[in-house]
Amino acid sequence: MILILFGPPAAGKGTQAARIKDKYQVAHLSTGEMLRAAVAAGTEVGKRARAIMDAGKLVSDEIVIGIIADRIKEPDCKRGFILDGFPRTVAQARALDDLLKSRKLEIDVVLEIRVDEAALVKRVEQRAADAKAAGQPVRPDDDPETFKKRLKVYHDETAPVLPYYENQKKVRVIDGMLPIEKVWEQIEKALTETGKKRGFLSRLLTGG
Ligand code: AMP
Repeated sequence: MILILFGPPAAGKGTQAARIKDKYQVAHLSTGEMLRAAVAAGTEVGKRARAIMDAGKLVSDEIVIGIIADRIKEPDCKRGFILDGFPRTVAQARALDDLLKSRKLEIDVVLEIRVDEAALVKRVEQRAADAKAAGQPVRPDDDPETFKKRLKVYHDETAPVLPYYENQKKVRVIDGMLPIEKVWEQIEKALTETGKKRGFLSRLLTGG
């Protein structure tokens, strides 16, 4: 199973990806996490990405496509994988299709997590205020002003990826405004239906 979790920053993609990974034993590929790890490790990629990430902008297509191309070759991706935060541009979506085609693979489904963005901004402002009050560090790009920039980048550069997948009839809409448990129920239903339609449901549930 190859699926894309699509939606604006702070929509809950990471939380739901962790659940999907646990239930179906597929790999969770978050380009944001991989980039943060590269920054922390001080690698060449990390050095190139750091300032861009802190400013809430997108790292170059070339860097993230390279990261994903390497990562999907790892053995834990054999049963399938969840893409979280990738693709974020139409160029990335095209490159991903080419990459998958060359390995005789294909995206099964794109789960679009829909959220009310005004509510998201409030959520992130609250999270930053709570962290500060508790003396904990706030992720630099979760600073409310930077977060608003990330939302703008989402609109300008990432939202146009959706029609690309709508044309391929791959998109399922998930209401992301509901409690975590209810969002999860919708995801399980969408994955069960996709698994039946595409003939991988039993493999998915049995670990084969
Ligand atoms: P995330 O944790 O997914 O919100 O990603 C954090 C930051 O990493 C983003 O704001 C970007 O700067 C960078 N990033 C993550 N994924 C991508 C991507 N697919 N393309 C470009 N930049 C990315």
